[in-house]
Amino acid sequence: MAEPGATLLARVASAVGPTHVLTSSADLEPYLVDWRGRYRGAARAVVRPASTEEVAAVVRLCIENGVPMVPQGGNTGLCGAATPGTAGDAIVLSLSRMNRVRGLDIANATLTVEAGATLAQAQTAAAEREMLFPLSLASEGSCTIGGNLSTNAGGTAVLRFGNARELTLGLEVVLPDGRVWNGLRGLRKDNTGYDLKHLFIGAEGTLGIITAAVLKLFPAPRARATALVAAPSVDAAVRLLTLLKGALADRLVGFELISGLSLALSRKHHPQSPDPLPGHAWYVLVQVDDPADNTNLRESLEQALAKGIDDGIVEDATIGQSDAQRAELWALRENISEAQRREGPNIKHDISVPVSAIPQFLRDAQTALSSALPGVRFVIFGHVGDGNLHYNLSAPEGEPAQRFMEQAGIANRIVHDLVSAAGGSISAEHGIGQLKRDELKRYKAPIELELMARIKAALDPQNLMNPAKVL
Ligand SMILES: Cc1cc2nc3c(=O)[nH]c(=O)nc-3n(C[C@H](O)[C@H](O)[C@H](O)COP(=O)(O)OP(=O)(O)OC[C@H]3O[C@@H](n4cnc5c(N)ncnc54)[C@H](O)[C@@H]3O)c2cc1C
Repeated sequence: MAEPGATLLARVASAVGPTHVLTSSADLEPYLVDWRGRYRGAARAVVRPASTEEVAAVVRLCIENGVPMVPQGGNTGLCGAATPGTAGDAIVLSLSRMNRVRGLDIANATLTVEAGATLAQAQTAAAEREMLFPLSLASEGSCTIGGNLSTNAGGTAVLRFGNARELTLGLEVVLPDGRVWNGLRGLRKDNTGYDLKHLFIGAEGTLGIITAAVLKLFPAPRARATALVAAPSVDAAVRLLTLLKGALADRLVGFELISGLSLALSRKHHPQSPDPLPGHAWYVLVQVDDPADNTNLRESLEQALAKGIDDGIVEDATIGQSDAQRAELWALRENISEAQRREGPNIKHDISVPVSAIPQFLRDAQTALSSALPGVRFVIFGHVGDGNLHYNLSAPEGEPAQRFMEQAGIANRIVHDLVSAAGGSISAEHGIGQLKRDELKRYKAPIELELMARIKAALDPQNLMNPAKVL
């Protein structure tokens, strides 16, 4: 008689096709380790369905057999949320074969796309019709729409367009009981009770498997200007944000803070990068876009930056002269995460506080951390226009990284206590996953945790949908 596990996999194979059930350790390997190499799990198989019906069939088989499921997109998440636990009893459900564009409606300005499409594919589908899907992350070549929505991804254009939640009009979801909820509505107005899509957005795959989404599109920009600006302090950078918002209104799309050390690391590990403004303490990468092409966008930006120089909040600035130069300036910012990874282990925080609270938060955190971890190096960058900082700490020069990493708990406590005191969030855009479950329990109000647990129990009473993540 066939062993029960083998029977399940045989039935899964007949649902999705035998070549899409991976079981050899070599095939499983890339699905079992997270992008940062921080978590390693085990699984009985990776299953790659090609349609919503196939996803639903696999989910029903898993429920019947009490098998945990871990949805996975591009596996670029930064909290271990897509990595299975170590028990080896789970199935990883990879959405990578569900990558079709189902439709693009110009008049409605919507794109309907399957969850396994990469973010870059969705952007390209929009661009081909002179439209813009504005979500933009350094991982966009690999991360998927399903992962983006499940993590409520942020990125570099949240200031103007909002995060993934604000860019989503409808969803199709396979529920934890194997039924399909077709909520693929492209409506900007729909007040018919609870807005269920918001349960699944940001749920990190714990409430169901997103199989497709209706996304909002915008007119593609016809004019674009990108500037790297040197600022004397973070206070000055925050004042510059207010100045640029006033001068450029919603043409201001991105406002990324970069510390001098972050820029140096980016350049060290990507030596072909330019160094247009050497030797400053802080930088801001500014992106302005306009869907009209006759608006003197560049001149407006130059005038605003000149005012910043007069006000003493801008030390110097350079504006990209071509697409290639603009891309080089963006690469300085986008290469920081990768550069940090190459540089060695570091203690990371993805936090947000109200924009107005950023300068004081940074002063307090620097004082407390310098005293607790003498010589610690601050690698600070992020989407400061959204109050979101990647507040990362590297070992003091010469200290073995491993010894430094043992103090992560001390650093986390200092940073998260200050964030909490400032009314901020311990996870601005990366989610909770496995990494911050304990921190969530510490900082989230008990009533919020209770409501989350009740929602989870109502939708997934067997706790098989990405268990031991988030809650
Ligand atoms: C270099 C780099 C830069 C990054 N920059 C940013 C940034 O600026 N902003 C930002 O927000 N993030 C950023 N990230 C993090 C990451 O890219 C995002 O979290 C992204 O949204 C994850 O998408 P993914 O397809 O890789 O998801 P995965 O890592 O595969 O999964 C993430 C979570 O979503 C769940 N999931 C995946 N697909 C589905 C689905 N179809 N249905 C239900 N659940 C699903 C998984 O179970 C898991 O819980 C960055 C990552 C890297 C490596």
